[in-house]
Amino acid sequence: MGESKSAVRAKIEKLRKTIREHEYRYYVLDDPKISDAEFDKLMNQLKALEAKYPDLVTPDSPTQRVGGSPREGFQTVRHKRPMLSLDNAFSYDELREFDRRVRELAGRDRVEYVAEHKFDGLSMSLQYEGGVFARGVTRGDGTTGEDVTPNVRAIRSVPLRVDSATLKKLRLAADFEVRGEIIMPRSAFEELNRQQEEQGGKRFANPRNAAAGAVRVLDPAITASRRLDFYAYMLLAGDRVPVKRHSDALEALAKLQFKVSRDWKLCRTLDEVLKYCEAWESRREKLPYEIDGIVIKVNDIALQEELGFTAKAPRWAVAYKYPAHQATTVVKDIQVNVGRTGVLTPVAILEPVQVGGVTVSRSTLHNMDEVQRLGVQIGDAVLIERAGEVIPHVLKVVKEGKNRRPFVMPKECPVCGTKIHKAEGEVAYRCVNAACPAKLKESLLHFAGRHAMNIDGLGAKIVDQLVDKGLVKDFADLYSLKLEQLAGLERMAEKSAQNLLDEIEASKSNSLARLIYALGIPFVGERTAQLLAEHFGSLDKLASATVEELSEVPEVGPKVAASIVEFFSEPANRKLVEKLRKAGLRFTEERKARRDSRLAGKTFVFTGALAHRSREQAEELVVSHGGKVASSVSKKTDYVVVGTEPGSKYDKAKSLGVTILDEAQFEKLLASK
Ligand code: AMP
Ligand code: ZN
Repeated sequence: MGESKSAVRAKIEKLRKTIREHEYRYYVLDDPKISDAEFDKLMNQLKALEAKYPDLVTPDSPTQRVGGSPREGFQTVRHKRPMLSLDNAFSYDELREFDRRVRELAGRDRVEYVAEHKFDGLSMSLQYEGGVFARGVTRGDGTTGEDVTPNVRAIRSVPLRVDSATLKKLRLAADFEVRGEIIMPRSAFEELNRQQEEQGGKRFANPRNAAAGAVRVLDPAITASRRLDFYAYMLLAGDRVPVKRHSDALEALAKLQFKVSRDWKLCRTLDEVLKYCEAWESRREKLPYEIDGIVIKVNDIALQEELGFTAKAPRWAVAYKYPAHQATTVVKDIQVNVGRTGVLTPVAILEPVQVGGVTVSRSTLHNMDEVQRLGVQIGDAVLIERAGEVIPHVLKVVKEGKNRRPFVMPKECPVCGTKIHKAEGEVAYRCVNAACPAKLKESLLHFAGRHAMNIDGLGAKIVDQLVDKGLVKDFADLYSLKLEQLAGLERMAEKSAQNLLDEIEASKSNSLARLIYALGIPFVGERTAQLLAEHFGSLDKLASATVEELSEVPEVGPKVAASIVEFFSEPANRKLVEKLRKAGLRFTEERKARRDSRLAGKTFVFTGALAHRSREQAEELVVSHGGKVASSVSKKTDYVVVGTEPGSKYDKAKSLGVTILDEAQFEKLLASK
């Protein structure tokens, strides 16, 4: 074996560097440059080399994210600087009071603040030694926390090593600490709960609990499977902040390739702070993660030090808490909803009530176990909560109704009358009639859903009519709908009918992963669909795969594999697949070729919030049209898309003369052919 050890070492280091860069693009910037398959290939090369030369394996290698066996417990570690909580403000008046106090203590008329999201997760201290990730410690009691290093390592957006040249350029020591928040994005949370439900496990109440649970498990493999994210918001060297301003710290963290929210804002007056709080109050629902408020920090670090701490919290920061989206109301009735897999979900019909600006009149009760756990009956007064776009849920009974009566699961399907079935050991009650119209309706809604085929105009009202009129009997029928048929529906003008047809047509070129997810195979969530698409590369290969072949796919266990095999062995489903093929849907994954190239070669930068889409969606659209998204403005930027409350990127774009688009212009550009 001719290669010298140093040549091998150099080769390994080069591979690691490449992989780190791709991890950064994928997990931090959400802007991958290569396909997942190409990424896996690089990883496998590295794994093979490391297997051959085990003495060259280092803990900062990308292969070492998930490794080691479950542990018996956690060790406690003392924090170099206490991890304090924050004082809360529940009104703008309290914020004004905070500002007055700061200015008074500082003896200044004006104080600059940074306003940023208050991530609803759990705080974490990441310690780096020699530029290499050494330790992850929870907040604990603030003075000491728990060492959860192997679990933190499994979070892909946590860099295992930072670039030493960047450290040098920023004049930062190679031993440093980064504090931030571990969160679970809403989509991951929803998928996790769906999975838990399907597998009969317990639901998590909110993403924060789910994230905390995933970090404090003893087996890092579980953490790895939970899709957590880390957002950085503080940089320390020893017990000091090594830069002049908090905003410098945020910028330095981003340069060191930590994930930093791009939505923080420098505010020169308290009014700007209040505007920021107000702007994000409704917009926060569109964020991919939950925030429970805004953190306001004095920007000048010297002033921060001057202001110091009380026993519990810094005097230089405050957390403005948004009012909780909760309300009390009365359960008028409990009905059941038949889902796409035939599962009956009890739904509380509520006395309509305003929750965070939205009228709520229904709330899911999930399943019979949940009804029993809550002890809720018809007539009770309940506390409900609405988090983000999630359907509201009942938190607890606040007062039992005088004439309360218990809910009983119906013996027959309320839609088709078929006898209801409850499998041994399962929580769910099901309608097993394959032709139940309720199932078809829900399946169509799932098929059209934003994470599936993304046919926006196909909502419940339209689906009801399409199914009731017999125009659509399966997914494939959507693709043969005619304009006259759609225009004949209630609440459907010719223009919207045409729009819907266009959307249906456009959905044909969706990725294979979306199609697999849209089929609604039991236990196949979004992520599994993605992994299946990457592994098999075509629907036909997936449809003919055996349980053994399926088990080779990461994260696919025997239960999922069996469910897929069963789905494709069902003659009705085989027929459906053929119909979809005839309709011209994409059955193969050719990522590069598929992308339409309307925005090819164009680089976009976003600043401020958009009204009609989340930042994430807008970026996804740019990428799917062949464009690129960058996080900062340079001369190479082609367009800066400016929403409301834009940040400094807007000013930079103006000074560099980069083309600036408002939201409407951006939408136009997307729509142009
Ligand atoms: P609380 O737990 O309500 O006292 O709030 C303090 C906690 O807010 C901190 O310990 C952090 O975990 C968390 N937090 C979330 N986002 C931020 C942020 N942007 N800056 C500082 N702390 C934050
Ligand atoms: Zn039924």
